[in-house]
Amino acid sequence: MEELQRFLDQIVYNGYRIRDVALGIVLAGIFIILLRKLLHAIKASKEPKYNIKIKCPKCGWEGEVGKYVRICPRCGRKA
Ligand SMILES: [Zn+2]
Repeated sequence: MEELQRFLDQIVYNGYRIRDVALGIVLAGIFIILLRKLLHAIKASKEPKYNIKIKCPKCGWEGEVGKYVRICPRCGRKA
């Protein structure tokens, strides 16, 4: 454990220790993950997937309907 401490306290660049660099990498990783999640959420909100493709089992109509309103526009049957 003491060796690890000494290793982490080694100065690698311009006064920065390995533990500072490691912490920076971890923080950067967390930041990138959060950023990607945020971008994904923005993208998802811009492209709402409220429409789904259905095929009516009664009349054979095919097309897009609202995800929560699965009713065939031709014959009114629930799909
Ligand atoms: Zn139908």
